[in-house]
Amino acid sequence: MIRLNSHPSGRHFLQIPGPTNVPDRVLRAMDYPTIDHRGPEFQQLGKKVLADIRKVFQTEQPVVIYPASGTGAWEAALVNTLSPGDKVLMYETGHFASLWKKMADKLGLNPEFIVGDWRHGVDAAAIGARLAADSSHEIKAVCVVHNETSTGVTSDVAAVRRAIDAANHPALLLVDTISSLGSVDYRHDDWGVDVTVSGSQKGLMLPPGISFNAVSQKAIAASAQAKLPKAFWGWEEILESNRNGFWPYTPATNLLYGLSEACDMLLEEGLPNVFARHQRHAAATRACVTAWGLEILCQNPAEYSPALTAVVMPDGHSADTFRKVVLENFNMSLGQGLSKLSGKVFRIGHLGDFNDLTLMGTLAGVEMGLALAGVPHRAGGVLAAMESLRNAAASQPALRAA
Ligand SMILES: *Cc1c(COP(=O)(O)O)cnc(C)c1O
Repeated sequence: MIRLNSHPSGRHFLQIPGPTNVPDRVLRAMDYPTIDHRGPEFQQLGKKVLADIRKVFQTEQPVVIYPASGTGAWEAALVNTLSPGDKVLMYETGHFASLWKKMADKLGLNPEFIVGDWRHGVDAAAIGARLAADSSHEIKAVCVVHNETSTGVTSDVAAVRRAIDAANHPALLLVDTISSLGSVDYRHDDWGVDVTVSGSQKGLMLPPGISFNAVSQKAIAASAQAKLPKAFWGWEEILESNRNGFWPYTPATNLLYGLSEACDMLLEEGLPNVFARHQRHAAATRACVTAWGLEILCQNPAEYSPALTAVVMPDGHSADTFRKVVLENFNMSLGQGLSKLSGKVFRIGHLGDFNDLTLMGTLAGVEMGLALAGVPHRAGGVLAAMESLRNAAASQPALRAA
């Protein structure tokens, strides 16, 4: 029997919100012999990536690079700055914020969770009010997720900084940018963030395997007093070795080749252009979802994520069944609903190495999948996305035909 698409020719569409599609340039850059990580050639690479990655975090401060997934960098941020029993104020934006909070519990911290509905971002005023009530400064850190990957909601980190300052509170500000760095405008220095956590496999377009802590001088000072046990994650030794372009242990050399190339790509395009591209693709995706008559999970338009869109399934339809239809028929992976959103939403990743036609392929696959899976929707979403992209191009004179 002949089955349509029984052999997946062409490229797989990896449209989950991380890991993202790794560009050929990055793949080629990593396809290179591993070198002596104590030798002079490595030293040049180490110095280059440590300098370049600061530009991506928009910081003049050191960035620590770990051979670990993003979860490791979460742990590093906590164990370097805090002591057993310390109170930390965290905000429930969704699955990832909840996991970070669970980790704080496991590490013996005392996290206080501001409850959220998984459809909105961080309410900076609620953080400000809680800090203002903390006159004895028991709260040692405020932890927020910049782009909540489980919901497609982005939070205003600058507003959180202003709320901390307005309360005149000394708490450190720790921010997870694992799915926003390199996709959504993020400013470690301007926004006065003390530790920015990130990972390689989302906006940075790399395979999974390395992660980051961008640190402030205040965070480094806190790390000298922090009493949670730390060995592998300790910043001090790493920062010492990094001064000469090295690591105290074997770094993920080939991923660092990739990082060097990915930073070149982002900086060649220019960060403002990278951010505008993601905004444009996100707007076209929302135009498409709205035309289908489906609901976007994020309820505040000011907080729509430029990196991904979570779409609510109509009642009585399973998002996972739908995703299976899309994978089997169109060789495309869409993001699943996580924990309490399991089966209820699917997530379209539109971040990383991505252009207008990748988006059109993605949305066409979703629209065909909706029809095949019998999910009630109106046709014409893809057309609405095309119009959105065309209007964006028309408003940019450089892109119009001469
Ligand atoms: C992906 C992700 C994580 C987890 O990172 P891992 O690399 O899987 O450990 C944490 N936070 C956010 C916001 C993420 O998107």
